[in-house]
Amino acid sequence: MAEYDYDLFVIGAGSGGVRAARTAAATGARVAIAEDRYLGGTCVNVGCVPKKLYSYAAHFHEAFDDSAGFGWQLPEAPRFDWATLRDNKIAEIKRLNGIYNRLLDNAGVTLINARAKVVDDHRVEVNGEMLSAEKILVAVGGWPWIPDFPGNEHVIDSNRVFDLAEFPRRFLVLGGGYIAVEFASIFNGLGSESHLVYRGALFLRGFDHEVREFTRDEMCKKGVNLHFETTIEAIEKQGDVLQVTLTNGETLEVDAVLAATGRRPQLAGLGLDQLDVALNSDGTLKVNERYETSIPSILALGDVTGGPELTPVALAEAMHMVQHHFTSNPPGPLDYQNIATAVFCHPNIGTVGLSEEEARADFGEVRIYTADFRPMKHTLSGSDERCLMKLVVDDTSDRVVGAHMVGEEAGEVIQAIAIAVRAGLRKTDFDATIGIHPTGAEEFVTMRTPSRR
Ligand code: NDP
Repeated sequence: MAEYDYDLFVIGAGSGGVRAARTAAATGARVAIAEDRYLGGTCVNVGCVPKKLYSYAAHFHEAFDDSAGFGWQLPEAPRFDWATLRDNKIAEIKRLNGIYNRLLDNAGVTLINARAKVVDDHRVEVNGEMLSAEKILVAVGGWPWIPDFPGNEHVIDSNRVFDLAEFPRRFLVLGGGYIAVEFASIFNGLGSESHLVYRGALFLRGFDHEVREFTRDEMCKKGVNLHFETTIEAIEKQGDVLQVTLTNGETLEVDAVLAATGRRPQLAGLGLDQLDVALNSDGTLKVNERYETSIPSILALGDVTGGPELTPVALAEAMHMVQHHFTSNPPGPLDYQNIATAVFCHPNIGTVGLSEEEARADFGEVRIYTADFRPMKHTLSGSDERCLMKLVVDDTSDRVVGAHMVGEEAGEVIQAIAIAVRAGLRKTDFDATIGIHPTGAEEFVTMRTPSRR
């Protein structure tokens, strides 16, 4: 008889947890997964997926405007109906939840719809029952965090922003990270008066400086109201209206305030505090390259471990973890360098590798190639949107160590460029690549003269 009820007990059915459960089960392991909320986690339910759907919706606004120069005449001014978007989104997410359910079922994973608590190295309590497992995987993700200020009870977080009962005619987002710039763009595109309030001088800290400035200018041109070097002092609710006082003395009246001020690991009630599991300084779980916590039978991956909070990272970690613990073929450590990422503000940002500032610090001598141009589409559309493409090259080795884009479908373009950057290709390889004409992306293989060194 087996010593434990399961070989692997997964807590949290988000991107990382589901991938770990399915992949482990495919090796023949007996796997259970506990989830007390929705299947698919943040990404599917209140993150990447609905956000991208809303971003598509917001882009139509410009597409309608752009079409006139190409000869399209709309019978009347298009109107946006929030309830249609919201409810179609709800139906689609429900469909995806069903797919996740079937994926787990087909993989032979036991799904338990309840919150599990870790009791000791090999036991969890779930629905009042004690279950044992050789390995326990904590993949509970993170939860939005809202700063403390008078009236912060009137603020919504990114879990609630998708399902607002009423469309906010005036929308304000606090923060200067991914979620803030994405939602400021989305509501602006959907027709709200949109405000972004950020405490620093320029949002998107950590991204390439030129990319940040270019994005600021493009978002301003599209009508997003950017309030930098200030933050929310207090919010007062007057009827349905929120009166927001900023620390710079400005007052804004809006219908909804979103706090996009980062996320924290969701460890409350999980029992790990009683087991003295080691934490990182930001409160996330500390793991080694085998995704073991300080208690080796308790594993963790994804957002709860404090790496890049990105779905593809959690998926890669899950597959690595399974190879380590459920196969006889352990892999080398996961490579966290050159992880490409996109920010779905309007226009989109795509980026891989080092910013110009990081490359200058790492290599000293660099060559910077930039193209800042009006995309061909906008010669007829009349739109003043511009596109930025940028390559950062280590002068000594000629390797392209960073590639950045702000413009339409930047994520799609940078995904392909990321293969070249990860492979360590040189600028001469980019130059030897013949472009696809007419595309915007061909700029990445036709930039010949450095903009600066
Ligand atoms: P981020 O960490 O990206 O940004 C948080 C922002 O909030 C920063 O601008 C930060 O400012 C600001 N902030 C923090 N504390 C305070 C405070 N007390 N008062 C005012 N401002 C504050 O978090 P998000 O919430 O935007 O997103 C969470 C994570 O989810 C992201 O980091 C990303 O990994 C992931 N994500 C990825 C997406 C994608 O791949 N497209 C989309 C959405 C989310 P400062 O910079 O000054 O510290």
